Amino acid sequence: MESSSAATVSAGPSPGPTPADLLRRLRARGAADPVTHVERVPARAGVPAPWPSWAPPELRAAFARRGVVAPWQHQAQAATLAYEGEHVVVATGTASGKSLAYQLPALATLLADPRATVLYLAPTKALAADQLRAVAALELEGVRPACYDGDTPRAEREWIRRHSRFVLTNPDMLHHGVLPGHAQWSGFLRRLAYVVIDECHTYRGVFGSHVAHVLRRLRRQCARFGSTPVFVLASATSGDPAAAAGRLTGLPVTAVTEDASPRGGVTFALWEPPLLPPDSGPSTPVPPQSTGDHDDLRQVRRSALRETADLLADTVAEGVRTLAFVRSRKGAEVVAANARRALDDAVPGLGGRVAAYRGGYLREERRELERALLHGDLLGLASTNALELGVDLVGLDAVLICGYPGTRASLWQQAGRAGRSGQEALAVLVARDDPLDTYLVHHPEAIFGAPVEATVLDPANPYVLAPQLACAAFEAPLTPADLALFGDGAKEAVDQLVAAGALRQRPTGWYWRHRERPEVDLRGEGGAPVAVVESSTGRLLGTVDGGSSHFLLHSGAVYLHQGVSYVVDDLDLVDGCALVHAEEPDWSTHARDVTDLSVVSVRSYVDAGPVGMFLGEVDVTSQVVSYQRRRIATGEVIDTRPLDLPARELRTVAVWFTLSPQSLTLAGVQPADVPGALHAAEHAAIGLLPLMATCDRWDIGGLSTAVHQDTEAPTVFVYDGHPGGAGFAERAYGTASAWLRATRDAIAECGCESGCPSCVQSPKCGNGNNPLSKPDAIRVLDVVLANLPE
Ligand SMILES: [Zn+2]
Ligand SMILES: [Zn+2]
Repeated sequence: MESSSAATVSAGPSPGPTPADLLRRLRARGAADPVTHVERVPARAGVPAPWPSWAPPELRAAFARRGVVAPWQHQAQAATLAYEGEHVVVATGTASGKSLAYQLPALATLLADPRATVLYLAPTKALAADQLRAVAALELEGVRPACYDGDTPRAEREWIRRHSRFVLTNPDMLHHGVLPGHAQWSGFLRRLAYVVIDECHTYRGVFGSHVAHVLRRLRRQCARFGSTPVFVLASATSGDPAAAAGRLTGLPVTAVTEDASPRGGVTFALWEPPLLPPDSGPSTPVPPQSTGDHDDLRQVRRSALRETADLLADTVAEGVRTLAFVRSRKGAEVVAANARRALDDAVPGLGGRVAAYRGGYLREERRELERALLHGDLLGLASTNALELGVDLVGLDAVLICGYPGTRASLWQQAGRAGRSGQEALAVLVARDDPLDTYLVHHPEAIFGAPVEATVLDPANPYVLAPQLACAAFEAPLTPADLALFGDGAKEAVDQLVAAGALRQRPTGWYWRHRERPEVDLRGEGGAPVAVVESSTGRLLGTVDGGSSHFLLHSGAVYLHQGVSYVVDDLDLVDGCALVHAEEPDWSTHARDVTDLSVVSVRSYVDAGPVGMFLGEVDVTSQVVSYQRRRIATGEVIDTRPLDLPARELRTVAVWFTLSPQSLTLAGVQPADVPGALHAAEHAAIGLLPLMATCDRWDIGGLSTAVHQDTEAPTVFVYDGHPGGAGFAERAYGTASAWLRATRDAIAECGCESGCPSCVQSPKCGNGNNPLSKPDAIRVLDVVLANLPE
């Protein structure tokens, strides 16, 4: 380890090693090269465009005062499409200036028509507040931008409704406040020219499906008042943004995806920690009280946390300013502590240049941290994503990403912290012991090629549609024409609401029968959400939907909230609340469930000879029966503890495939190995679905069996873990061959002998990862892929 360079950087930016040199030194440490791929993401010069001719000089001058000399090409293109009345989604990279694409047409229209209005929706209050500052700073006459959310004082609300022409809010407020009170908003809605939907890729799953209907309700009210606003959406890069935006709004949307903004060059390395020898166990001494489950200790990789800590120590020793992203706060502390120790061993005192960033720091402390890092007093920082929310750190020399953060959008957001102006930077993705991470480091095209991961939602989910139609009927009676607006399943849902006594049918339409408004939570799932409450203070930390509560909030569970760790004392299912206390144990918890499943109906299927692929409704009964405690630093299993929770019933959407027993025999799978083959394929298929859709493995469940009572054949089911389905199973069905191809490759390319957490083992398996047959899983998937049409 070299230390001489470390002392020279305290006075500010140093030349330091080039990213290529740095990477060469990092990868030369061990026996085997852990780098599976190096991508040179070249620097890109921006492509500016002239101001569109329709943009008034006053507006150009206002932007010029804020330092915007000219738009980039994608901004100008999207802005002009929107100005000409086309619904448009801008799906480009982090910091590519998407806001100008909607500010330009929206503000030009407000200046040209002194009566026109604009509605801006953000997923968080903080983002809306940022946008408010940006629009207000332009100081345009008569625009009067204002935030309208739960924090807006009552006294100001009426003024905003009457006088603001650029209202910034969120979907929850639109749903709870604006639409039910549409009479008070009639003036604003009548003149509504643009609806801006920022960060629209965050509207996914069940929440996204609710928001889709809130937007349909908005369109219905606008139509009643005679306006037809243009929708402008901003999205992170994703697979098929036009389709996702179309599903969200119910309108045809044009996508602009060619990013013309400038960026610095990045050397991006994919890093896979080495497999430990089969019987070496965890890489630190096992404490005497520990009793590991043998099935999980068969073979493991060196933990991504330890690998990241070593990399952080090495880059800091080189004098390189480095930020390490770690998923949990405890994990960030483990990384910082290990890096500090390694540095102090080499050069006493050097460890002091590394810190862990704790989410929840005071504003001044965060600024101090930024200052220390930018001036070089601090060289290494390990942080959770909380940093994305609170600290403004850009222009670092290196970024280490410990584990794939779940979506390409988050990955690029984190990698985007690297690179000072005009200088090359290094980014390293360190794979965790997980099938998706393993697949990605061996398939760089899935990261650097065209995105396949799509933002998925399902507005036809009856558990979303019916309550949303009730809200719409409360706002104004539903007409047959409205049913077309709400899409597939609307008529059935209305009939059910009539049968349940919620709506009354009259010749003029369907009427809400009650005096009170229907109570619908956009972030809930039919089942009541569970409140997470800190026992000592009574403070409400947040809510978890009923479906996930057994997994995340069982007694003894370690629950992470904004990177801070809590331990659950008690889950009270009757009162719908979980009592927790702040504590940061050395372990994480992993709940396991057992599942039973029956097929209700088949929606669609592909008959491919010995193989069948199906999409349909299923009833799932699942019970969380136990949980494992695992040491954070090593992943080592400490113990498994039983739980006493009731079984839960779930009607949802599943994708499943069947194979004939003969085809399996022909492929060389012995009858005794069929259960292990299907089980292993199921685990890996669940692990890889987030490649195709923005979900994580906790959104989906699975079941496999050598003979299922409904299919009468060897079958693997993968289902949406949300009542009525959230679109994940449907996406899996629609991309079945690509999804199962990736699953097959992930298993086949894993270097382990008989299966490991990087391929076929699952952290949430209710059967203790038993039986599992890695080679036979590949045979099963080969049979499916050989028969299934592309
Ligand atoms: Zn493996
Ligand atoms: Zn399992």
